[in-house]
Amino acid sequence: MMDLIIVESPTKAKTIQKFLGNDYKVMSSFGHVRDLPKRELGVDVDKNFEPKYVVPVKAKKVIAQLKKDAKAADQVILATDQDREGESISWHLMEALKLKDPKRIVFHEITKTAIDEALLHPGKIDMNLVNAQQARRVLDRIVGYKLSPFLWKKINKGLSAGRVQSVAVRLVVEKEREIQKFVPTEYWQVEALLKKDAVEFSAFLIKKDGNAIEKLGIKNKEHADAILKDLENATYQIEKIEKKETKKNPLAPFTTSTLQQSAWQKFHFPAKMTMSVAQKLYEQGYITYHRTDSLNLSQTSLIAAKEFITKSFGPKYSTGFKIYKAGKNAQEAHEAIRPTDAHKNPESLKSDLEGAQLKLYTLIWQRFIASQMVPAIFDATSIEITAGNYSFGTNGQMLSFDGFLKVYPMKFSENEFPPLQEKEILELVSVTPSQHFTEPPARYNEATLIKALEKHGIGRPSTYAPTLSTIQARNYITKDDQKRFIPSEMGFLVNDMLVANFPQVVDIEFTATMEKELDEIAEGKDTWQKTCRDFYEPFAKNLKEKYDQVLKENTDIKTDKICPKCQKPMIEKLGRFGRFYACTGFPDCKHTESIQKDASGQAVTINITCPKCKTGQITVKKTKKGKIFYGCGNYPTCDFAAWDEPINEFCPTCNSILVQTKKELIKCSSKTCDYKKDAASDSKIN
Ligand SMILES: [Zn+2]
Ligand SMILES: [Zn+2]
Ligand SMILES: [Zn+2]
Repeated sequence: MMDLIIVESPTKAKTIQKFLGNDYKVMSSFGHVRDLPKRELGVDVDKNFEPKYVVPVKAKKVIAQLKKDAKAADQVILATDQDREGESISWHLMEALKLKDPKRIVFHEITKTAIDEALLHPGKIDMNLVNAQQARRVLDRIVGYKLSPFLWKKINKGLSAGRVQSVAVRLVVEKEREIQKFVPTEYWQVEALLKKDAVEFSAFLIKKDGNAIEKLGIKNKEHADAILKDLENATYQIEKIEKKETKKNPLAPFTTSTLQQSAWQKFHFPAKMTMSVAQKLYEQGYITYHRTDSLNLSQTSLIAAKEFITKSFGPKYSTGFKIYKAGKNAQEAHEAIRPTDAHKNPESLKSDLEGAQLKLYTLIWQRFIASQMVPAIFDATSIEITAGNYSFGTNGQMLSFDGFLKVYPMKFSENEFPPLQEKEILELVSVTPSQHFTEPPARYNEATLIKALEKHGIGRPSTYAPTLSTIQARNYITKDDQKRFIPSEMGFLVNDMLVANFPQVVDIEFTATMEKELDEIAEGKDTWQKTCRDFYEPFAKNLKEKYDQVLKENTDIKTDKICPKCQKPMIEKLGRFGRFYACTGFPDCKHTESIQKDASGQAVTINITCPKCKTGQITVKKTKKGKIFYGCGNYPTCDFAAWDEPINEFCPTCNSILVQTKKELIKCSSKTCDYKKDAASDSKIN
C-alpha cells in the first residue's frame, strides 16, 4: 500500500512523481472532473442556488481509474493548485471519488523541498475558497444563461453576454468613442539649435518674461512667427546649469498582470499564450505559481538571489533583502512569480527549454534578480538659456552606474553636453518653429487593457487572460493593424444595449465590488448563496421588465442589389462576423453574399492588412484554374497567401493571423500550428 497524490495536470504529476519516487503514486485528474451542465442553467435559484454538477464525458474514465487507485491507497492527498480554482478541483475530486477524509497539501512551487515540506503539514480542503469559486461560477453562469437569450431576441441569434467580459468590452467601446470624439488641438514649439566648440545641441522655448509657457501655449503659426520676430538678434546666454544625480529603481517582481503586460510589450505574447507558457514552466518546476497578485518573496529565494548577485557581479550590486508590498486587493498567502532557483540563469537552461518558454523564463528570472539589485544612477544636467525676454531649456543624462540594468535591460536615452559655464554666450545655429497637434488617447492593447482591468479591480489573476480571449472569440473586439483592440459594429451594439438596460451588469464599480465580495467569501466573512441572491433578485426582475420594454434592434440597411436567384432586393444584415448581403425573400430564398466580394467574384480587398508585410491589403484572388484564394495586394513584393479567408483575429497560441474555412471553422494560418476553434461555438454560452 502507498499514498495516492492527485493533481490536475499530467506534467505536474510527472514532476512530482520524479521528486517522490516509489513511496507515492501521483495521478492526474486532467483538469476539472465536475462542472455545471452544458445545455441548461444548472443552478436551482429557488433552492438556495444549488448547483447541479455533472461529470463531463471525458472525465468519466479518469474518475473510474482514480476511484480504483484511491481504494488501493492508504490515504489520498489532494495537491491541486493553491488558489480558489485549485481548491475547487480538490473539492470536486473529493465529491466525485467519494473520499472520506482526504488530505490537502499546497505549495507555491513544484520543487522537492516544497513538496516534502507540504507533505509534513497536510491540511483539509478550505471550503471558503471552494465557495468563493462556486459563487464566481454561479454568477457567471446566471449572467451568461439569462442575458444571452435576451440578446438573441433583441439583436441577433448566437450572441452572448458575460459578467466580467461585458465590462471589458465596455472599456474598449468607451475608449473608441473617446477617440472618435477627439478633436486635435494645434500647438507650436520653438526649437533653438545652439553651438559650443563645434558641438551642437538643441533647446526648446520654455518661458516668456520668466513665466512658464504651457504645452499648448503657442496656438498657431502667427503666434510662433511673432516669437521668432522677437528673437531676431537676441543673444543666447546660459542662465543656469543644474547637475544632480538621479536614480532609476528596479521594478517589483512579477505578478500575473505585470507578467502578462511585460510579455506583450517585449514579445507580443497574447495573455493567453503567456499563461500557457508560464503553466508549463510552473509544472516543470522552473517558476513559482503563475496566478498571483502577491509580491511576497520567500526567505530562501532572497538568500539565493543575494548569493547569485554577489557572486556574479560583486557585493555593490546587491541591495540586501528587498521586500515589495502588493496592493490591498492581493489574494491569500501567495508569492510573486519568480524562478524556483535563482542560480539557474537562463543561459544554463538553453538546452532544456524551447523558444517561448526560454523567453518567458528569462524575463521572469531577470525581473526577480533585478528586484534584489541596487538602482541605476544617472548624472542629470538641466540647462536654462536666456534669449531676450525668453528662456530655452534642455536636459540630458549620462549613466554613471548600471546597477540592476546589468540584468534587466530597459530603454533610456543618453546625451552629453559640451563643457558649459553659466553666463557663457552660445552661438545660434538656427531657430525653428514646428507645428504639432495633440494626440487622441491610444487604443488598448493586451497589456494596457489588463492594466486597466486590474486598476479598476475587475477580475483577478486567474481571469485576465480568459476575459481577453473571450471578448475576441465572440467577435465583439478585434485587433487593428497594430494589434490594438477595436470594437466591432456588433461590439458597439451589444455594449450599448447592455449599458442602457442592464447598467449594473456592465458597471465598473459594481463589478469591482462583486470581486471584493468574492474575496470576503474566500475569507469566510460572507456566504456565497447570499452574494448570489443579492445579485440575482434585482437582476431577474429587471430582465423580465426589459423583455417587454426593449424593442428589437433593426440593423438592416437597404441596398440597390438584386438577388440573382429570385430578383428580390437584397439588404445588408449584421451577423456575428460582420455585415453581409441577404435576400429579402428569406425564408423562401436563402441567398446570401459576402459583402467583401463582388457578385462577379472580382478581386476586391477584404479590409484586412497583410500580416506579413503589414502594408498590403489582403485581396480576393483566383488561381488560373479559378480557385479563390487570399493574397497580399503587394504581390510580387510580398508573397502572403491563404486558401481560407483571413479574419481580423490572431492565434492565441502563436499570434499568426486566423482564417475562416467554409465549414464554419476558424483556424490558425500557420502551417506549424494546429490551433482551431468552431466558429459556431461562440454562440454556445460559456
Ligand atoms: Zn433571393
Ligand atoms: Zn503583404
Ligand atoms: Zn497558431
